[in-house]
Amino acid sequence: MAAEIHHFINGRIVKGGSGRFGPVYNPATGEQAAQVALASADETRAAIDAAQRAFPAWAATTPLRRARIMFRFRDLLERHADELVELITREHGKVLSDARGELTRGIEVVEFVCGIPQLLKGEHSQNVGTGVDSWSIQQPLGVCAGITPFNFPAMVPMWMFPVAIACGNTFVLKPSEKDPSCPMRVAELFKEAGLPDDVFNVVNGGKEAVDTLLTDERVQAVSFVGSTPIAEYIYSTASAHGKRVQALGGAKNHMVVMPDADLDQTVNALMGAAYGSAGERCMAISVAVAVGGVGDRLVAALKPRVEALKIGPGTDSAVEMGPLVTREHLARVKSYIDIGEQEGATLVVDGRTLSVAGHEQGFYLGGCLFDHVTPEMRVYQEEIFGPVLAVVRVADFDTAVRFINEHEYGNGTAIFTRDGDAARQFTHDIQVGMVGVNVPIPVPMAYHSFGGWKRSLFGAHHMHGPEGVRFYTRMKTITSRWPTGIRAGAEFVMPTMK
Ligand code: NAD
Repeated sequence: MAAEIHHFINGRIVKGGSGRFGPVYNPATGEQAAQVALASADETRAAIDAAQRAFPAWAATTPLRRARIMFRFRDLLERHADELVELITREHGKVLSDARGELTRGIEVVEFVCGIPQLLKGEHSQNVGTGVDSWSIQQPLGVCAGITPFNFPAMVPMWMFPVAIACGNTFVLKPSEKDPSCPMRVAELFKEAGLPDDVFNVVNGGKEAVDTLLTDERVQAVSFVGSTPIAEYIYSTASAHGKRVQALGGAKNHMVVMPDADLDQTVNALMGAAYGSAGERCMAISVAVAVGGVGDRLVAALKPRVEALKIGPGTDSAVEMGPLVTREHLARVKSYIDIGEQEGATLVVDGRTLSVAGHEQGFYLGGCLFDHVTPEMRVYQEEIFGPVLAVVRVADFDTAVRFINEHEYGNGTAIFTRDGDAARQFTHDIQVGMVGVNVPIPVPMAYHSFGGWKRSLFGAHHMHGPEGVRFYTRMKTITSRWPTGIRAGAEFVMPTMK
């Protein structure tokens, strides 16, 4: 019988009672590795109850004490890194070194919030009027919820809950039902670090659990990362229920290759950025925009590299690219190769025939490369989320910028060039939230904030960093005076400070 994955509520594993389960696969073999309980609305409400109960005491815990738990949590994550990384690779498929990379980026958020006393210091003005002082404080919101995608089962939840909890909130996480084991283990480690029971809860499930989080009046804020249609649904539903929402969606990230770019550096960068994690990254580069005459040289250099990609199980240290997450997703990505051919793009490398010896049932797809893609094509417009790179050829820099600015997504982008003037113009003009100059995947560090523009983010706040602290707190401004002696009479006009 497949192993069972349940929920983490009240500081312990709680068995799912809905009787409904979803399959969790090992994508490297194609076998079902486990089944995960899908929470009912009542079970989800039990997690909200727990978080609501825990909120007053946790909000009253000093930021310094909260930070000390974060320091211990960080150490436990490091000590258990190998175990967590294996859980990620087993259920997601990415190579172990990449899983270690995502865990590290998550740990960096925990390191950032170890400084929460400093981050919550607020602002103070003396003598805003004679004998009158004013200051602003940031207070926690209450119960916060996080709903996360399959492609970063460690990092994306850790963009959210460490910041929310360090700020004094309690949290209910609904991770992806495709790879839930890592977040469940992280919850146990957080408890071991000294986090009081009920402050952090994990509910596994699908739409029923999500809808309960979006509509329960006790949930104050919702953080979401996933595909754009669901992000839009989350944003509109949770906002209509009075919650603050940050909902990050899909992407189609372009890398502009200028004629003066160093070709070796550019091709190396493109290989990692397009095919790393089998293209299942929201910051993957899926479009290379070749400017001027660079297209022929670029495609000629890419072709043998894509054909030579080492593909196999993520646990093999010689492998560069693992399988896709599920059989359905593999079929969806393959269907885009058919669509691109029908639309008239040139398929330079076709990964559809790949078979990995000894792992014939695994969800593998070889690297695919399209040339002569145009903005009218679906393979240009839509997020494929697989190891598929499209090369678009344009005459000049201005056209490259226009294509990117007209695209519905605006998550990440990059320019490769030796021309500082072009790079500066690009960073200024481009309608995208995260921009790299000779950096293919410009993911901001934990102490900056992560977020896209346009239909890659619904809501006002980016994640983690200073924006995360703002999202998970609300500001209160106090104006105070302590008058002595004869009081002035009643004032009937707007007070102006003297
Ligand atoms: P997804 O939208 O299918 O699922 C995300 C979460 O939403 C999961 O927890 C899932 O259970 C839940 N969900 C799915 N359908 C739902 C529905 N109808 N109602 C309520 N909840 C629902 O995304 P995914 O396939 O897990 O992840 C891949 C997507 O996430 C890609 O589009 C990728 O670009 C995006 N992503 C974006 C970022 C970013 O920072 N912008 C980061 C990582 C992933």
